[in-house]
Amino acid sequence: MEPPPKNGSTDSSASEPGGDVAKVETRSLNFIEQIIEADRAAGKNNGRVHTRFPPEPNGYLHIGHAKSICLNFGLASRYNGLCNLRFDDTNPAKEDVEYVDSIQEDVRWLGFDWDERLYYASDRFEELYQFAERLIQEGLAYVDSQHLEEMRANRGTVTEPGKDSGDRSRSVEENLDLFRRMRAGEFEDGAHVLRAKIDMAHPNMLMRDPLLYRIRHAHHHRTGDRWCIYPMYDWTHGQCDSLEGITHSICTLEFETHRALYDWFIEKLGLHHPQQIEFARLNLNYTVMSKRKLLELVENKLVSGWDDPRMPTICGLRRRGFTPESIRAFCDRIGIARMNSVVDLSWLEQAIRDDLNTKAPRVMGVLRPLKVVIENYPEDQIDELEAANHPADESFGSRIVPFSREVYIEQEDFLEDAPRKYFRLSPGREVRLRYAYLVTCTSVVKDDDGHVIEVRCTYDPASKGGNAPDGRKVKGTIHWVSAKHAVDAKVCLYDRLFSQESPDDVPEGQDWKDGLNPGSLEILSDAKLEPSLATAAPGERFQFERNGYFCVDQDSTSESLTFNRTATLRDSWIKQNK
Ligand code: ATP
Ligand code: MG
Repeated sequence: MEPPPKNGSTDSSASEPGGDVAKVETRSLNFIEQIIEADRAAGKNNGRVHTRFPPEPNGYLHIGHAKSICLNFGLASRYNGLCNLRFDDTNPAKEDVEYVDSIQEDVRWLGFDWDERLYYASDRFEELYQFAERLIQEGLAYVDSQHLEEMRANRGTVTEPGKDSGDRSRSVEENLDLFRRMRAGEFEDGAHVLRAKIDMAHPNMLMRDPLLYRIRHAHHHRTGDRWCIYPMYDWTHGQCDSLEGITHSICTLEFETHRALYDWFIEKLGLHHPQQIEFARLNLNYTVMSKRKLLELVENKLVSGWDDPRMPTICGLRRRGFTPESIRAFCDRIGIARMNSVVDLSWLEQAIRDDLNTKAPRVMGVLRPLKVVIENYPEDQIDELEAANHPADESFGSRIVPFSREVYIEQEDFLEDAPRKYFRLSPGREVRLRYAYLVTCTSVVKDDDGHVIEVRCTYDPASKGGNAPDGRKVKGTIHWVSAKHAVDAKVCLYDRLFSQESPDDVPEGQDWKDGLNPGSLEILSDAKLEPSLATAAPGERFQFERNGYFCVDQDSTSESLTFNRTATLRDSWIKQNK
């Protein structure tokens, strides 16, 4: 798979949601924009553009939803139109206010605003019911009392036409009477359904007298116990679009076959007709995106929650340290197409790297500490060294980092038997401690098992700032933290949640959850950070030099600092596997 483009190498850019039209104009129009521009040129809908984002509140939003959100709100913004937020809440069994709240929080966090246009399909249950009575009156819908299995068997197959139900010829009066009694609660779940009367031999199976209503004696999170019949998704969606004055109803490709039905309902009811347009959903490798599967991970405690930083959810990415700008840039780079494809996860990682590269102040943090004692450095001396907060942007300023006789370095920056080209610390070799001094390793201290537990060095007092006074070459530069000033922290490192590239494709008899990557979370409980991080607040982001981008966890406190690694500095995955 192609590596992601580096920042600036794409022809498109959207640093603000649809904000900077001049910038967006530099790429060619995607196919939906082409349709919209043609519609506007033809004067359709008086040139109006009105879209919506219609989640079902049965789970948290994920990065796939972000693609749809950026698309719908982005189009509205680009064409001076509007975008609604609508909850498609027709299934009382799986929906919950927890999801309703989290969805609003996530859409806002991504940088979008629906103003006062927040709608619920459930607020239209009465209108939808009246529409159904209208279809009945026009002989276009009937109450079917077949058993579910019978109904299924009579539907036919792709190659065989279905069979008409015996109830298909019920009179308008009988249908109306039964439908009203269904609503009144006279029947058990499953006793009857309301179906559209279209064509049981239609080549499109969805047109074979689709269900409009089923009986469900269930409590709804908004309408309570007011209803015991609930409208089907297909019967709800288009009519809600229409009543909201939507002009372009954008959905994912799996709804392509539903379009005929969408159009049929709107035409028969004689309503304003939004145009349904399908685009390819986002798929990411090493990732599952189905809400059902994500819920299963949460319920089985295979992750710490919907916002586990390994989850592809918006709240997981937020906790991991992603910015809204990086997610919007990612959605812009992957583009909009009509063909399904799988996007390499490294594109998402590159998007956050590109953003944090310009935004995150640099600091020093040692993840796996090894103590270094500088033997010729006075016991109680402390040097206050100036360190730049950003290598390229002076507006970040600088900070003071204390240096003392004992410092921590990374275990991996020391090697006892080092090859010739090893430019870090090793007995007899000299290395630069970033911003501080040149030090030379003189000896090591080992534990009973022979592991190096301490490194002894001398420093060159004339090399303050890291420059050799005589101009001698010292190639290696490593980061460090003064031991007596170090702030203790817990650091969580993340890897892909699944080991398999296509975690949804599992052989028969195997569980997709077996594909979870056992090494997706590594907790380092002994990290040593420079003292400026003592006051880092939840949500703050930094680059730990040489170690990657890190974000203070939302539950972190000054007594127990916790950082999540958002991304490494380079795509380590490519290095390991290619
Ligand atoms: P489920 O996982 O339960 O099948 P869903 O992901 O389709 O549901 P919805 O709440 O119905 O969830 O989605 C809201 C909107 O987001 C829909 O318009 C849907 O097309 C879009 N959407 C969902 N998943 C993706 C995806 N992976 N890529 C792009 N758009 C998506
Ligand atoms: Mg859906």
